[in-house]
Amino acid sequence: MGEVKKIAVIAGDGIGPEVVAEAEKVLKRTEELFGYKFETEHALFGGIAIDKKGTPLPQETLEVCQRADAVLLGAVGGPQWDNNPKELRPETGLLGIRKALGLFSNLRPAVVFDCLKDASTLKPEVLEGTDLMVVRELTGGIYFGEKFRRDTEHGQEAVDTCAYNVKEVERIVTQAFEIAQKRRKKLASVDKANVLETSRLWREVVNEIAPKYPDVELEHVLVDNCAMQLLRRPSSFDVIVTENMFGDILSDEAAMLTGSIGMLSSASLGEGSFGLYEPVHGSAPDIAGQNLANPIATILSVALMFRMTFGYADAADAIESAVASVLNAGHRTSDIAVDKSQAIGTKEMGDLIVAAIQK
Ligand code: NAD
Repeated sequence: MGEVKKIAVIAGDGIGPEVVAEAEKVLKRTEELFGYKFETEHALFGGIAIDKKGTPLPQETLEVCQRADAVLLGAVGGPQWDNNPKELRPETGLLGIRKALGLFSNLRPAVVFDCLKDASTLKPEVLEGTDLMVVRELTGGIYFGEKFRRDTEHGQEAVDTCAYNVKEVERIVTQAFEIAQKRRKKLASVDKANVLETSRLWREVVNEIAPKYPDVELEHVLVDNCAMQLLRRPSSFDVIVTENMFGDILSDEAAMLTGSIGMLSSASLGEGSFGLYEPVHGSAPDIAGQNLANPIATILSVALMFRMTFGYADAADAIESAVASVLNAGHRTSDIAVDKSQAIGTKEMGDLIVAAIQK
C-alpha cells in the first residue's frame, strides 16, 4: 500500500457540486479496489466563496490547494455574479488560482468513444481511433504580453505583443515530450514559424530538446495546417504541443471532435507532479440542481489525475474502461442521449460507472 495522497476538492458553483460528488464516489471505489489511500479536503471557491467569504479565492482555499498533491475542481460562475466588479468575479479566481499554484500548461485529452461517434459533426470513419492530447502553454504569449493603444494618422491603433523566452518554451516542450513518451510516442509541435519570431524560437528549442527523446517521433506543423489536419486526420495525432493562443483555439477545435462538452476532462500542470484537474465545461446554470449534468468529464478528470500526478495507471485505466462499458451498454445522460426520454440522471450515471469499475 502506498502513501496517502492529499486531494483538495473544490466543488464550486452550479453543477460543480453535483458532478464532483460523483467523482468522489469514484475516488472512494478505487480506494476500496486498488488499496490506494486518499485524503480529501474541501474548500470554497468561485461564486460561493464570494457569497460566504467576500472573495472568489479565499486564502484558506489556496492553502488547502498548496498542502495537497492535486486539486479536483468542479466549475465556477453563474449569472448572479456576472455584473460584479472584476475582483469579485468567479473567473478572476480561476486566473488567480492558476497563477498562485504555478500552473503553466493545460492538457486536454480528446478521445472519441466508439459508441458516441454519431454525436460528433464529423463522419464516424474520420473519427475512428481518435485519442489525442493538446498541451497548451498557459502563462505566456500574446495574452500576457504588453498591450496598449496609440494615436496614429489613421486613428487609434491597438498593439498586443507576443513574447516567449527559452525557459518558458523549454519547460512546456519537455513536459509534452514526457507525456508523448508515456503515450503513443508521437509529438506534433504547432507554430507559425514561417512568419512569427516567437515561433522560430519555439521551433529552435523543440529541435534542441528532441534528441533527448529519440523514441518520440516529432513533426512540426504550422498552426493553420494543424487546424485543417485536425478535421481531416484527427486519429493520426497523439500529443500536440503549442503556445497559448494557438492552444486555446486548437483545444476547442479538438474538443468538438468528441461531440459533447459533458465528456471533456482537463489538467493544468506546473513543475513536478502537482496538478489541477477539472472538466472543460462551466457551471451550466441552466441545468444546475436538476440531476441532469453529465458527470463523465469530472470522472475522467479523476482518471487523468491518477495517470498524470499519482502514476496510478491501473486505476486510471479501470475508470476509463468503466466509462466506456457504461456508454457501450447504452446508458446516456440527456446531453449525449439521442432519445432524451431514455436519459438517466447525474447520480445514476455516477452509480453505474462506480459499479463498472473493475480491478
Ligand atoms: P457551460 O459549459 O457552463 O454550459 C454550456 C452548455 O453546455 C449549457 O447548455 C450547459 O447546460 C451544457 N453543459 C455544460 N456542462 C454540461 C454537463 N456536464 N452535462 C450536460 N450539459 C452540460 O458554459 P456557459 O454557459 O458559457 O457558462 C456558464 C458559467 O460557467 C459562466 O458563469 C461561465 O463563466 C462559467 N464557466 C466556468 C468555467 C470553469 O469553471 N472552468 C468554464 C467555462 C465557463
